[in-house]
Amino acid sequence: MEDILRKLIDKNRNVTQEGKVATYIPGLGKIDPWDLGICVADMEGNIYKSGNYDKKFTIQSISKTISLMLALIDNGEELVFEKVGMEPTGDAFNSIIKLETIMPSRPLNPMINAGAIVISSLIKGRDEKEKFRRLLDFIRKISGNDKLNINEEIYLSEKNTGDRNRAMAYFMKDVGIIEGNIEEILDMYFKQCSIEVDCIDIAKIGLFLANRGVLPETGERVISERIARTIKTFMITCGMYNGSGEFAIKVGIPAKSGVGGGIMASIPHRMGIGTYGPSLDDKGNSIGGYKILEDLSNYLNLSIF
Ligand code: GLN
Repeated sequence: MEDILRKLIDKNRNVTQEGKVATYIPGLGKIDPWDLGICVADMEGNIYKSGNYDKKFTIQSISKTISLMLALIDNGEELVFEKVGMEPTGDAFNSIIKLETIMPSRPLNPMINAGAIVISSLIKGRDEKEKFRRLLDFIRKISGNDKLNINEEIYLSEKNTGDRNRAMAYFMKDVGIIEGNIEEILDMYFKQCSIEVDCIDIAKIGLFLANRGVLPETGERVISERIARTIKTFMITCGMYNGSGEFAIKVGIPAKSGVGGGIMASIPHRMGIGTYGPSLDDKGNSIGGYKILEDLSNYLNLSIF
């Protein structure tokens, strides 16, 4: 397997030149665009890896799946989906437009920024510190890595420049979708996006979802089968932003990308995959990660369709 992975990295390394590293969060602009790495974690406990699999990157939008798991545990499905819809948007992940043009005014799904900010506001805890602590503990648990933490520089960089997210959050407060202190809620969102991971960490979270919410190593059930299924379904319909339909046809596996360059994929009953390549296509998906997943899916026949 590692042989195949190495070949795929070599084959697709050049593709990274066709994309661009995200610069709208200034801290992200300093990353090496050539990086490309992959990790596959399977149900038998094997970990296969190649390329820059151990480079650290910020989880960014992949964290939207994690906060959604916790919000569903904390509040139940009914309440969560009263505030956020279940439909893909066809718009960019940070688009504002549908917040006002669709009635009732609520974000269309939890994988776009507006939806994820609402989801962050639903995580329970005595204060902001405890809420984030719970999220961090949760991601440490499902990745099996108790060292995970935030990248302070990227967190501050996004906090200082995230005015589009700020605009959406204040708008949603005005129309009654979000309650509470908006700056505190945004702080939670910016922090969750700046958690630093590597390919192994996200491959293991993908595997945990592939195993229907049970940690393969200990047999512990952490989330219900229903929640695991909901997350994987959102990954298929909305996980690759407004490129999700094409990805479903070309690759055919539940996946969630982030502008930090990561893609977390989950192949039900089989494996979790983490890829890293910070050079992005025009939709904000890792251009190298996308290609490796496409090749691997064809080679191993991974499409779930
Ligand atoms: N932190 C990023 C933002 O809010 C996450 C976006 C992403 O990864 N697509 O803009």
